[in-house]
Amino acid sequence: MLTKIEREAKFTRETQLPLILSQTRNAVKTERLASLVRAIYLARDRRLERQIQLQIQALAQGFPFDAGERVVSGSKSVATLAKEIAAARQQARDSAGQSTAAFNFEERATAAYSQAIKIIDEMGKELSGDAALAADRLAKEIEAGAASTRNTVLLTLLMPGLFCVVLLLLARRHLAKPVLAAIGNLKRISENRPTLPVQTRPVLAELAMIGDAVLSYGYTASELRRKNVVLQALAEEDPLTGLANRRTLETYLQSALADKDKIGGTAVLLIDVDHFKSINDRYGHQVGDQCLQSLALLLVSLDRLPSSLAARYGGEEFVIVYNADNEEQALLDAAFVCRRIEAMRIPLEGEHSMTMTASIGVSFAPRGDAGGMNELILRADKALYLAKSGGRNRAVADHPVQARGRFSNARGQTAG
Ligand code: GH3
Ligand code: MG
Ligand code: MG
Repeated sequence: MLTKIEREAKFTRETQLPLILSQTRNAVKTERLASLVRAIYLARDRRLERQIQLQIQALAQGFPFDAGERVVSGSKSVATLAKEIAAARQQARDSAGQSTAAFNFEERATAAYSQAIKIIDEMGKELSGDAALAADRLAKEIEAGAASTRNTVLLTLLMPGLFCVVLLLLARRHLAKPVLAAIGNLKRISENRPTLPVQTRPVLAELAMIGDAVLSYGYTASELRRKNVVLQALAEEDPLTGLANRRTLETYLQSALADKDKIGGTAVLLIDVDHFKSINDRYGHQVGDQCLQSLALLLVSLDRLPSSLAARYGGEEFVIVYNADNEEQALLDAAFVCRRIEAMRIPLEGEHSMTMTASIGVSFAPRGDAGGMNELILRADKALYLAKSGGRNRAVADHPVQARGRFSNARGQTAG
């Protein structure tokens, strides 16, 4: 590019500038030619006229050929006319006595002068036209050179910028986007949310592999989560009734006993369906199951017992653990549960329904009691045994308490 600029500058200096200078010099010469023609016409002195004529001749020969055909021939014509002016003047002087002849020669001198001035005018126009054309051409060439230089410089500066932008766009599309998508999916997996499918598969095989690995990891993680939920439910719940199982009950009971801030204490109601075997035998195992499910539903909807947990202890045995004020209150609550069970109707096929009863063993541990979970359950079991042997469909506490309503105590006392 720089070489091109240098070449153009050299061409301008060597070719165009000399041309303009030469035209300017020719214009000055033409101007001088005009002055000399005027001087020879006004001189009216033989010697002076002769000198001026010689100067005009010399000047006319001094026009170079690059001045153009018309200028060169014009200058020669002017020299001839100047010679004619000088000759006419001399002849006018020589015939001074004869006024008509002198007048004619004077006329000839004036005509030659007028023609010479006319030719010089045309030469001037020609030269100024040539100079203007050359200057215009030169200006245009300089202008075109400057524009092409500016465009080349702009292109040279813009190219790296454009290259960087294209590179950034490509990197964003083929590197950053897939990586961000994979990171987003990993985040979703860590937040237990489903992964999003990749819209466009990355071109780079390694990134595509990473994306696939994240997706399959997400699928495995959600499968594991789903299985964990099932396993946790199986580990904590009884599948038939949906109640807490024995394991969950024990954990709950232990933390209830450890609670030192509670008011009153922890009550355990051990509920056993009376003659359940006969129900199975009479109505079938399926109806037996239905009875257990109905009983479970009843036990979880007992809003009389605060902070309670109902659990299936095994077979047809259930347990309720809750906060009670004292053992007497727990016995009253158990008698209430007995009445609710007795009042329950279990629908059978057709219009029929059936009822059942249950016996409840009650034990109570006041806040801070050191007896522990196993002892509390054992005491409830003993009380249950007493309820069974006492005639069933009743609640019995393992300690003697004042009887109120239809319940009995460990000594077998029953109230109706
Ligand atoms: P009691 O009044 O002395 O408690 O008599 P019972 O018949 O209820 O007691 P027993 O222990 O003799 O019988 C309990 C029955 O409960 C035996 C068993 O087949 C039945 N059973 C245990 N688990 C289930 C179960 O999940 N579904 C059904 N349908 N029956 C069950
Ligand atoms: Mg039983
Ligand atoms: Mg039973």
